[in-house]
Amino acid sequence: MEKIINVTSPLMPEFERYVEELKKIWDSRWLTNNGPEYVEFQHKLEALLGNKVELYVNGHMALDIAIKTLKLKGEVITTPYTFASTTHALVMNGLTPVFCDIKDDYTIDEDKIEALITDKTSAILAVHVYGCICNVEKIEEIARRHNLKVIYDAAHAFAVKRNGKSIAEYGDISMFSLHATKVFNSIEGGILVYHDEKYSTELRNLRNFGIENVESVTSVGLNAKMNEFAAAMGICNLEILEEAIATRKSIVERYLKTIQSVKGIKTLDYEEIEKNGIEYNYAYMPIEIDESITGFTRDDLYEFLKTKNIISRKYFYPIVSDYECYRDKFDSNRTPNAKRIGDRILTLPIAASMTKEDVERCCSALQEMIGRAEA
Ligand SMILES: *Cc1c(COP(=O)(O)O)cnc(C)c1O
Repeated sequence: MEKIINVTSPLMPEFERYVEELKKIWDSRWLTNNGPEYVEFQHKLEALLGNKVELYVNGHMALDIAIKTLKLKGEVITTPYTFASTTHALVMNGLTPVFCDIKDDYTIDEDKIEALITDKTSAILAVHVYGCICNVEKIEEIARRHNLKVIYDAAHAFAVKRNGKSIAEYGDISMFSLHATKVFNSIEGGILVYHDEKYSTELRNLRNFGIENVESVTSVGLNAKMNEFAAAMGICNLEILEEAIATRKSIVERYLKTIQSVKGIKTLDYEEIEKNGIEYNYAYMPIEIDESITGFTRDDLYEFLKTKNIISRKYFYPIVSDYECYRDKFDSNRTPNAKRIGDRILTLPIAASMTKEDVERCCSALQEMIGRAEA
């Protein structure tokens, strides 16, 4: 059997490059708590993201701390078409998620937000799904009118820009995940980007037990610090990120040659993305299968690829409101677009480390499935 092609594979620097960075950690004997690697990584990210940056042990804890820092209460309008983290972070903080439906580009439907606002609503938590940008202007306008905070779960959207401007410029706080499976990783890690100085102290203290200084603990905090080894990995991976995104782009283009003209298979609208001045990061390769046209279901394709040792992922399926831990409380039929897309979505393997042969294998497997259905 041929080797397994996973849905993704982490970005990693040359081993020697990482060792060079580790040598600095041995010299400093500083392993965690805002060491020199942390500070260097933070400054590099601030230059790239164009705003203030704090780093965390992972994206989820970062999101948790963003919610605590903004002191959200009551209800938060969010999307069910996301990873578990987004909703769990709200619920763990005693907040009620209010699910808003999504648009065909997978982001929250800004035209449906206002109908969900009540006197209990304190914020909007939206997700830049697959690196596709939410309608940030409209969301900002709604938030201003109703005095709501805005957090973006930008876990998928590292390095995405619009008209030369980082997407981290929008909202009160944006969270990026640096988990191994994301476009850019620090093994595990999370970033909060913000512009209002008034949040700085809390964003820093909450990740270190709420400790202000050795004799003063000012808030009920967590341990969510990024260590020096993670920061070192981030520094090294940042050096190869541009090349990695270019490789991902070429993989997407190869996939499109196989599937773009196939009826019943929908891809992201890459022309539209370009037309809108978006510098995209090619974080995922989502496709939607419309069985009534293709003659096969998303699950058929998933299983078929598996027989070829190609591991795709139903990402996001099930949608959050259908999780065992939530389905008694929410009716996923109230977000029909999210539900329909969740039933049709498949993300295909994409990683900067994929070889040409890997990509060809994926494309010919797709071709075989399409050919069978047409025959
Ligand atoms: C990965 C991810 C997270 C969580 O980030 P971690 O770094 O894995 O904790 C949150 N939201 C979304 C949409 C994600 O994809």
